[in-house]
Amino acid sequence: MKFCDLNKQYLAYKKEIDAAIQNVINSSSFINGNEINLLEEELAEYTGVKNVLCCSSGTDALLLPLMAWDIQPGDEIICPAFSYIASGSMISFYKAKPVFVDVSPIDFNMDVSKIEEKITSKTKGIIAVSLFGQCADCKKINEIAEKYNLWVIEDGAQSFGATYFGKQSCSLTDIATTSFFPAKPLGCYGDGGAIFTDDDQLAETMKIMRGHGQVKRYIHKYIGINGRMDTLQAAILRVKLKHFNKELEIRNKAAELYTGLLKDMVCVPEIQEGRTSSWAQYTIRTNKRDELKASLAEAEIPSIVHYPLPLPKQEAFKKDINPNEKFPVADELSRTVLSLPLHGLITEKEIHQVADAIKKYFHHE
Ligand SMILES: *Cc1c(COP(=O)(O)O)cnc(C)c1O
Repeated sequence: MKFCDLNKQYLAYKKEIDAAIQNVINSSSFINGNEINLLEEELAEYTGVKNVLCCSSGTDALLLPLMAWDIQPGDEIICPAFSYIASGSMISFYKAKPVFVDVSPIDFNMDVSKIEEKITSKTKGIIAVSLFGQCADCKKINEIAEKYNLWVIEDGAQSFGATYFGKQSCSLTDIATTSFFPAKPLGCYGDGGAIFTDDDQLAETMKIMRGHGQVKRYIHKYIGINGRMDTLQAAILRVKLKHFNKELEIRNKAAELYTGLLKDMVCVPEIQEGRTSSWAQYTIRTNKRDELKASLAEAEIPSIVHYPLPLPKQEAFKKDINPNEKFPVADELSRTVLSLPLHGLITEKEIHQVADAIKKYFHHE
């Protein structure tokens, strides 16, 4: 069994994907070009956001807004204590200070009741992460941001396709970002990402900065990066986007089946009111996490710990952290979480196999 079966997905759409790749090669248009424009239009239509910029990764998608907003050393940006490194590290990379907020034990997203106590005169914005596929509480986060005149980014690297009170993830905040890393809900065959915003001026600035700040050939207005998406990746994503809603449905059915089978043995994920998840991960919690993981491995069932160390405890953030500050929920999650196999073409039989192996572990324990 595979944790995320990318080969099965390729074989399912092989004809279309092969043709899309061949088209790009035939055109020799490897950088920018029509496929990028079309994908940006299709992503705009999918999310209902006015401007979409494809870019080189979910990490660069987080960096470009910080550049466009002209973040300065010493500026503070609020972000969750429990996440993938990029949602905090781009802040530090750009010489600003990440200010970590503990997360909710229900949806693992930033605990909105703990944000205001972290706001100072240096705070410039909030990066909310929609972890494991479920949107952060963007309505509340936007309200707080408005009160203190801050901007908000939704890091939707794991939540593309999720909804929040009827709106798509990546359409909920000033700017949103996503990642098309192969194992994300919508993945390409390498690195890729996108930025979403309704603000035309910000979009224009980020677009220029994505291409080394160039406004005319070899005439540069800003310091920028090479943050473009490869055209080959755009062509692949356009094929996968056509099949994406069907895969989302399978992910949701799989999660529902897991929950029914596992809820009496472990803590199962909960979806908050008004939300649907894209189920980037199906993540259970148990005090027997390490023993269960070992037992599953023996039955050749892969599982992954997302994430074994909260961000404030990463050595990389040492200079940004007050060692006395506590993040009890993030700590607890790091000790107890385990993500189970889940992907857009997983079968009911596979789900039962995983659930049976978990049952066997708890009965023999
Ligand atoms: C994957 C991920 C990123 C980074 O995306 P890359 O495309 O790998 O650079 C950022 N934030 C979160 C929450 C992620 O899961």
